[in-house]
Amino acid sequence: MMEPLSRLKTLLGKSSRLVVLTGAGISTESGIPDYRSPGGLWEKYSPVYFQEFLRDENARELYWLQKKELYEQFHAVKPNPGHIALAHLEKTGKLLGLITQNIDGLHQEAGNSAAKVLEIHGNSRITICLSCRSEDPWEKTHERLLKGEKAPRCLSCGGLQKPATVSFGEPLNTDTLNWAREWSESCDLMLVVGTSLVVEPAAGLPRIALLSGAALAILNLGETPLDAEADVVVRGPAGTVLPGLISA
Ligand SMILES: [Zn+2]
Repeated sequence: MMEPLSRLKTLLGKSSRLVVLTGAGISTESGIPDYRSPGGLWEKYSPVYFQEFLRDENARELYWLQKKELYEQFHAVKPNPGHIALAHLEKTGKLLGLITQNIDGLHQEAGNSAAKVLEIHGNSRITICLSCRSEDPWEKTHERLLKGEKAPRCLSCGGLQKPATVSFGEPLNTDTLNWAREWSESCDLMLVVGTSLVVEPAAGLPRIALLSGAALAILNLGETPLDAEADVVVRGPAGTVLPGLISA
């Protein structure tokens, strides 16, 4: 029997419609903690739910205070060799798309084009008006926070401004989800990287791929509920394993 790494390499070589699904594990190597792990962000902050954000100015101010602090902690993080290897996959023409649970924007910064990346939980580097949907880069909104605004509103329509991430209690974007399902149905290989596959809806996408006849490869440090059904499981850090697989 072939070593898991050689099997994964063979699968990647054969694939012509590859979909990659990434989670927090790929970004921990860039220094972003997994917020669900012990010592993670939500042990420090109590999350503001979307409904509270909509109805209560105090909740909005608390929310923005948290986001401002997170931004100041994490805005300088850079893509790691794992992100860069995945960006290289797009250049090979095999990549149907990359679906991520992460909100850090590091896949695009590594070189993946926006059209190939679906961010099912949104992107923390953009702020959006909940009324007219106009977008600003985080830096612009951050300037306003530094000047003393506590819960910024849209400069064109006065609507509530919010980072373009999905909050607790906020519905996911239906179009994004539909695309993610469509890619999962159309791929010939799904490569799962750095996610333990316990959080829906991302956890369901590899099942869709399997049911549609695709091969499934899992690269993660820990076990996942789909290991037994995967064609290959590699245990290891994405930043070390992926560059060896993809550049060679
Ligand atoms: Zn607006």
